[in-house]
Amino acid sequence: MPIYEYRCESCAEKFEVLTRFAERDSAQACPACESNKTRVLVSSFAFASGGESSSVSDFASESSSGGGCCGGACGSCGSSSN
Ligand SMILES: [Zn+2]
Repeated sequence: MPIYEYRCESCAEKFEVLTRFAERDSAQACPACESNKTRVLVSSFAFASGGESSSVSDFASESSSGGGCCGGACGSCGSSSN
């Protein structure tokens, strides 16, 4: 079961509750003032992922290397006409 962090709106107390996902949105009693005006906070571990940034550095400097001779624009290559 995941741990959700709640915040009491009455005394601003933060506390964690080990509860099910289905009961995440239901109010939990504040351990400090026993108020039910608590709200669940967004779990932080959901944002902790990432960091696997894809670096596109394979295509370093291979841009100006012609090679398009037989493309059709060249008039002195591959012209076999009998
Ligand atoms: Zn409270």
